[in-house]
Amino acid sequence: MNRQILVVEDEAPIREMISFVLEQNGFNAIEAETIEQAQAKIKEPYPDLILLDWMLPGGTGVKLAKALKQNEYTRAIPIIMLTARADEDDKVKGFDAGIDDYVTKPFSPKELIARIKAVIRRVAPTSLEETIEFHGIKLDPVSHRVFINDKSLDLGPTEFRLLHFFLTHTERVYSREQLLDNVWGTNVYVEDRTVDVHIRRLRKAIAGEGHENFIQTVRGSGYRFSGKTQPSG
Ligand code: CA
Repeated sequence: MNRQILVVEDEAPIREMISFVLEQNGFNAIEAETIEQAQAKIKEPYPDLILLDWMLPGGTGVKLAKALKQNEYTRAIPIIMLTARADEDDKVKGFDAGIDDYVTKPFSPKELIARIKAVIRRVAPTSLEETIEFHGIKLDPVSHRVFINDKSLDLGPTEFRLLHFFLTHTERVYSREQLLDNVWGTNVYVEDRTVDVHIRRLRKAIAGEGHENFIQTVRGSGYRFSGKTQPSG
C-alpha cells in the first residue's frame, strides 16, 4: 500500500514537479490548488502526509493547518509546510499551529523526500507496512495476514481493518461512531449496531487463549482494545 501524500500548491509547475518526484519515490500524490480543494480531499482514507504551501489564494496554509490540527480526525496527519525564504519570520506561527516540518523553496527533490521520510518515521513508528505485534497477536498489513501465537487466523475484510485499527490505537476508548469513521469511512452509511456485529465476529475470531478479552465494552461509551484485564462484572 503506497502512502498517499496530499500536495497543496497553487503554482502548477511546482505542484506537478512535486507529484512527479513523489510518484518516482513510491508515494501516491493527490493534488489540490486551493484550500477549498484541499479540504474536499482530506477525507477517508486520510492522506498519510500533507505538503502545504504557505501562500495560497484566499488564505495561508497555516490557517488550514490550524483547522486540521484542531480536528480530532485529522490532527494526527503530519504537515510539512512549503515556504519561500521571505516567510522565514512566519515559521514560528507555523509551529504554533502544530506543523511538523518546513521545506524552504527552492528545494531539491532529494531534500524533499528526505524530509518526508524523516517526518513519517517520527510520527508513525508503527507504519502501515510494518508487522504489528501485540500480546501474541501478529498482523501483517502487507500480506493481510493475522496470527495468534503463530497460528494463522481467517478474518473477513472488515474484521481485519477493525483489528488493524485497534492494534494501532490500543488502550483508548472509541465510540461506535468513531469506529465507523475510522474503519468504515466517513462517506459510508452504516448503522451503529453494525459495529457491534463486527466486534462480535472479531471477538469470536481471536478467541481461544483469552485474546477476546482484549476487546472491552465500555458501557455507554464504546469499545477499548486493551492488553490489561478488565475487572469482571
Ligand atoms: Ca503559493
